[in-house]
Amino acid sequence: MTLLDVAIIGGGASGTTTAFHLASKGKKVCILEKNNSSPERICGGGMSAAVQNWFPFELLPIVDEVIRNVEFSWCNTDKVVAELSGSSPFWIVKREKLDAFLLDQALFSGCDLLTTFEVVDLKKASNIWHITALDGRQIEARAVVIADGSESPWPKTFNLGPNQQKFASTFSGRIKRRGNLGNETARFEFGLVKNGFAWAFPLKNEVNIGMGTFLDNTTSIQVNEILQSFLPDLGLDPTEAIGHKKKLRIWSGHSKLNGEGILLVGDAASLCDPFLAEGLRPALMSGFEAAKNLIYWLDGEVSCLDSYTKTMQKKWGNSMAWGKRISQVFYRFPKVGYQLGVKRPTAPKRIAQILSGEMSYEDIAKRVIKRLLFQNSSSKS
Ligand SMILES: Cc1cc2nc3c(=O)[nH]c(=O)nc-3n(C[C@H](O)[C@H](O)[C@H](O)COP(=O)(O)OP(=O)(O)OC[C@H]3O[C@@H](n4cnc5c(N)ncnc54)[C@H](O)[C@@H]3O)c2cc1C
Repeated sequence: MTLLDVAIIGGGASGTTTAFHLASKGKKVCILEKNNSSPERICGGGMSAAVQNWFPFELLPIVDEVIRNVEFSWCNTDKVVAELSGSSPFWIVKREKLDAFLLDQALFSGCDLLTTFEVVDLKKASNIWHITALDGRQIEARAVVIADGSESPWPKTFNLGPNQQKFASTFSGRIKRRGNLGNETARFEFGLVKNGFAWAFPLKNEVNIGMGTFLDNTTSIQVNEILQSFLPDLGLDPTEAIGHKKKLRIWSGHSKLNGEGILLVGDAASLCDPFLAEGLRPALMSGFEAAKNLIYWLDGEVSCLDSYTKTMQKKWGNSMAWGKRISQVFYRFPKVGYQLGVKRPTAPKRIAQILSGEMSYEDIAKRVIKRLLFQNSSSKS
């Protein structure tokens, strides 16, 4: 058995991104994927164009729709529209297309792929990781990247990630026509889903429909009831939506994302935005950063991988800490949140800027704090 530099468990967005960057720097990498090469993906496919920063090839050819307007509503009424005028628009992709494209790029760069390889055992002995599949196949590697998504058991096994994992209950489906959703327009509906929101994202000739509830791990989402109300407003028939429910692991606090020769990326690292369920950008960002840190480590330039955790905290976690606070207040009092938050003249634009990656929750929180301090000091003087 030849020794790999890195074994990557999971061939989704985060795993393929890590694999591409490692393989393109000549590292011996293999993706271990439990499904066949094109598994079904449960995802809305909304993604900031800022993700382009992490790839040397163009992603635009696989984008179905470039969003210029974001429409918000409360129980299908009280609508507000924000224009996305910044430099990083919001893209809608078909997840199966994005993942297949990233996988092709990784394979083209020299990465290997083992499909139907469901990892059931992961151990370290004499500084080598030993990975076993359900069918008994075994792989050995100097390092391992955990990219197997929201149900990953490995963070707990190796005492990584947040102490208390948090989950959103979600549903995602696709409808094979566009209804009356405007061109280049994404819709966010905040009044119909308890402690969460519903969305409609346009594809070329289809629409991705979804919903998520964010505060309570145990709540089962009332999909049919919500579709009955949401879809007619989009000129669509509720019976047309075929989809699936899924528990999505969301960001719940700063945590250690690396051990010795082991890194967590994407949903396995609990990176998904707890307010807007944005998980693709952190999946791609963590894949890029994980590969960068692993290359230094494999080449003996650094003795540990701690800088990966630090970088992810700085570039993503600090914003998510504010996203979590905003989510907890907004989804507990959504009607007030919608009136005072979304309907503020500048708010839709700010939310749109978060989606497009132009601003972070941290930037917005700092602005609000500065404004409050300024108001306070000018009212005292
Ligand atoms: C309903 C819904 C809608 C969403 N909409 C959006 C959106 O619009 N925009 C956005 O940015 N994010 C969205 N997200 C979040 C986004 O989908 C995730 O953050 C993203 O998929 C994370 O990618 P990943 O590679 O970490 O995990 P995944 O995409 O889950 O990939 C994990 C891979 O690991 C494999 N695997 C699992 N277990 C094993 C095992 N034991 N052995 C080997 N392989 C294994 C799986 O088969 C899979 O291929 C949504 C999520 C949900 C649930």
